[in-house]
Amino acid sequence: MGIGIACVSGKGGVGKTTTAINLAAALAEGGRRVLTVDCDPQSNLTSGLGQDPYALTTSLGDLLSGRVAARDAILATGWDNLDLLPATPDLTAVEAELPTGLHRETLLREALAQDGVRLAYDFILYDTPPSFGFHTVNALAATDYVIVPLQMSGFAVRGLKEVLRTVLLAQGRLNPELRVLGIVPTFVNLRTNFSRQLLGGLAELAGLRVFESVIPPTVKIQETSLASVPITAYAPGSKAAAAYRALADEVVRSV
Ligand code: ADP
Ligand code: MG
Repeated sequence: MGIGIACVSGKGGVGKTTTAINLAAALAEGGRRVLTVDCDPQSNLTSGLGQDPYALTTSLGDLLSGRVAARDAILATGWDNLDLLPATPDLTAVEAELPTGLHRETLLREALAQDGVRLAYDFILYDTPPSFGFHTVNALAATDYVIVPLQMSGFAVRGLKEVLRTVLLAQGRLNPELRVLGIVPTFVNLRTNFSRQLLGGLAELAGLRVFESVIPPTVKIQETSLASVPITAYAPGSKAAAAYRALADEVVRSV
């Protein structure tokens, strides 16, 4: 049964999509069968894994609307063990088109339970939009765990409370087993006192794991977004690739 992990944060630009792509790629490189699910209409995970969101004819929107089955919406990527349930910009319109009275918030969970899709993978990674609306709620209903990428700044730390409140709500109403797996510190420059102090403060937050594998700021990761290739393939020997491999190891040990 594929273990679900959703990258969630109320903020944009903190490394959610980058973490979903590269954690998935590192797990796949290590021999795990991984499905990535793009729940963000911006479709950055889809383009980051080499697909053109404007050229796709079948995507997550069709699955949520009941037009296709999950296995017909899932694509192979150019990398072994790594599949993609893609998004297109049309995903924005899906919520408004759904008939009323439907179990809207569990559509994704139900769709992935069909045809043994969840059984075909070791991990299912969900990327979510920078809000707590329909698509993030569907991911929270479908997943087992949440990972919170946190950009090391004072504001980001404040935003964390909102994520935790949303997870608690989803736990209560939709998914009692939902757990926060941990915080992934992103854009961490350990050479600065500021980053070190923030990390120290984070570690004191009650009850939450802060992953030891922190992600450094690097131009190599910016380049991967343009190249549409995971860091583990784009620059296999880079510090950033090593950081995501280390994160994958920590994740495997902690689920
Ligand atoms: P989110 O999904 O939270 O909006 P992204 O993962 O798309 O954030 O990252 C936002 C931007 O920052 C992207 O252009 C990405 O390439 C860049 N980025 C992400 N992580 C890093 C990093 N560790 N170092 C440098 N740039 C990064
Ligand atoms: Mg994103």
